[in-house]
Amino acid sequence: MDEKIVILSFGGNLGDVPRTFLNALKGLEQAGFRIRKISSALRNPAVGCEPGAPDFWNWAVRGEWDGTPEELLMVTQALEVAAGRPHEHPHWHSRTLDIDIIFCNGETRNTPELTIPHPLWRTRNFVLIPLREIAPEILC
Ligand code: ADP
Ligand code: MG
Repeated sequence: MDEKIVILSFGGNLGDVPRTFLNALKGLEQAGFRIRKISSALRNPAVGCEPGAPDFWNWAVRGEWDGTPEELLMVTQALEVAAGRPHEHPHWHSRTLDIDIIFCNGETRNTPELTIPHPLWRTRNFVLIPLREIAPEILC
């Protein structure tokens, strides 16, 4: 796998999610993340969320990042907060914006604050399907 590959997975199901996503892309670029590829949008039922929760939108984004994974996490978490996501909320809950770091330049981390590669990426179709589009070499 290309060691320099960075993959982010975006999801959200509250508010104007495509607009929130575009704002987050702008914020990433302002922070120095260089966007290279953006997947098509996927719509997915809100499995495991509260009853009646709206469908999720999901995308994956491929880019280049010169900083550390921890610095990237600080950027993505600030963008989640800017999108109106409360700092603490239950897992599997509706949210305006979720940004997960799937890969970051071949680095590995194993703490609750940051686990990369993301532990669930191989089990999530909303990650695998966009990856097939923007980073098929990872799936070989
Ligand atoms: P999920 O994305 O699994 O639905 P949350 O977004 O609610 O869960 O989880 C947020 C927590 O996950 C944050 O505290 C963050 O520090 C931690 N975390 C661990 N690994 C990662 C990662 N690879 N990308 C993003 N957040 C991560
Ligand atoms: Mg997350």
